Amino acid sequence: MSKQTHAFQAEVKQILHLVTHSLYSNKEIFLRELVSNASDACDKLRYEALDHPELYEDAPNLEVRVFFDAEAKTLTIRDNGIGMSAEEAAAHLGTIAKSGTRDFMAKLSGDQKKDANLIGQFGVGFYSGFIVADRITVESRRAGLPADQAVRWSSEGTGEYELEAIARAERGTDVILHLRDEEAEFLSTWRLKAIISKYSDHISLPILMKKETWDAEAAKQVVTDEWETVNKAAALWARSKSEVTDAEYQDFYKQISYDSEPPLAYTHNRVEGRSEYTQLLYIPKKAPMDLWNRDKRGGVKLYVKRVFIMDDAEALMPAYLRFVKGVIDSADLPLNVSRELLQESRDVKAIREGSTKRVLGMLESLADSDSAEDKAKYADFWKEFGAVLKEGVGEDFANRERLSKLLRFASTHADEGVSLADYVARMKEGQQAIYVITADSLAAAKNSPQLEIFRKKGIEVLLLTDRVDEWLLSHLHEFEGHMLQSVAKGAVDLGQLQDEEEKKKAEEVAEAFKPVLERLKEALKGRAKDVRVTTRLVDSPACVVVEEGDMSAHLARLLKQAGQAAPDAQPILEVNPEHALVRRLADDPRFDDLAQILFDQALLAEGGQLDDPAGYVQRVTRLLAPAA
Ligand code: ADP
Repeated sequence: MSKQTHAFQAEVKQILHLVTHSLYSNKEIFLRELVSNASDACDKLRYEALDHPELYEDAPNLEVRVFFDAEAKTLTIRDNGIGMSAEEAAAHLGTIAKSGTRDFMAKLSGDQKKDANLIGQFGVGFYSGFIVADRITVESRRAGLPADQAVRWSSEGTGEYELEAIARAERGTDVILHLRDEEAEFLSTWRLKAIISKYSDHISLPILMKKETWDAEAAKQVVTDEWETVNKAAALWARSKSEVTDAEYQDFYKQISYDSEPPLAYTHNRVEGRSEYTQLLYIPKKAPMDLWNRDKRGGVKLYVKRVFIMDDAEALMPAYLRFVKGVIDSADLPLNVSRELLQESRDVKAIREGSTKRVLGMLESLADSDSAEDKAKYADFWKEFGAVLKEGVGEDFANRERLSKLLRFASTHADEGVSLADYVARMKEGQQAIYVITADSLAAAKNSPQLEIFRKKGIEVLLLTDRVDEWLLSHLHEFEGHMLQSVAKGAVDLGQLQDEEEKKKAEEVAEAFKPVLERLKEALKGRAKDVRVTTRLVDSPACVVVEEGDMSAHLARLLKQAGQAAPDAQPILEVNPEHALVRRLADDPRFDDLAQILFDQALLAEGGQLDDPAGYVQRVTRLLAPAA
């Protein structure tokens, strides 16, 4: 075949123009793209050689070599992979065959800026060489073809390319970039090594460069003929699980997380199907300082076919799993994908869903394990990250049920570690609801007067004291058919937990108490929305509650502390007609003082603040002082 000139397909011209004009600001990526192609070519050879081992010829060690000629201003990326025949060179480097790229072409608007954005969605691959080169020569021989059937492809990256038959003893491909005059920076071992370690460290093939030594006579670094491997060539996650030791997994975690402690747990899987990817995910032992910053990017690195793409790819994990660290390596995404496009990609969505399931699975296997060690690990996890996981109940509808099983609480029965399932298993006969109370601290929750009747009857109440708990309750309405009910909202309805006799007695007491109630309502006008008799109290004279649909007083306080508007709903005062203090109200001349004190004390007991603390103190002082 003598030298022939061919025109590029029209789309290629467009792509070339776009690539060289829009990617100039990040031009070093050309090396990533070409090394990635070289590595793909080796992967393809390895695959074809499974059935045809003779394709290895006598060079079974697959590798990539990067070298330059400073005088000729050429930079060469050489691989001993599958190579290309003349037809393949014309087809792959002269046309755009990929349907994805054609879709991309169809979307081009002609508006440079918009199109430059779009290009991130698609691999720019080989053509990115033209960002830095004014001519690219490719010399290649396909594995299995004789030495005289090699090809030279050459182009200036404008309208056309040339094809020519050549002889080439070695299988594989040389991509020779004739660098533009102003791109001399890439004729530097140091610069090239830095780019390779930035993007291609985890390419599992060795990438070789010529060693440099100090030449004292010339007083400069000179390139020798000795080759050395410049990448780590160790994509741990690309190896099969059975080949990787626990120590290696732990070491790798330290490398990527900068955590001095080993991880709590990890999971490593290759996922095949509609979306193909590998995940190696770790749960740390300790929460980082900035865990509460929801804008913090996640700790998962994105690779595409072992080529590093970006750190902290937040689109790969939901926000409530932002503590997870690790690597996701996709076989489907383009190398040039941007953060913005990650958010929209369907492949990424599939990866996020798959990874979420894996992390939840990892947590479940600790939580549900029979081993005491695992259970203790889960308890540790919960202490560090439980409050973050709770965010998921509101955010991740699809996994709400799984998440709700992973929740742990304090309760009136145990200070920690109570799951909803534990609670349900301990429910009293006839108990319908799961009772909860929110408060600022465990002590405030435990001593809340609203718990008295529950304690007396031995009914368990969950004590919720995390800031996020109010948000949790607004999304978690039920568990296994049992409604979650706040004991500080609405009237207590213990339903079948109260027997007929109790109910009847309560009604009689309430009836007899009516005149006092009316006087209390009058005295507390403007402060209490209502005053009513309750059976929820045993030792306390009174408590405040809010109406069923109203915002809890606890949440209103949290919002105010955060500087947000919260409705000033008046609470309802509930009084215990059996209490000595309440019983003597009717005949006491200081009725008004007592009424105010009763109300203020109920507010204090619930963790609230008094509008007029001095007034409260004066009234109590009057009460304590001997009557004049
Ligand atoms: P992509 O790699 O995303 O398919 P490129 O434009 O980078 O797109 O490359 C186009 C095609 O050219 C590749 O799919 C491959 O068939 C071929 N190719 C590129 N580089 C090499 C190489 N070093 N060895 C063999 N084939 C190659």
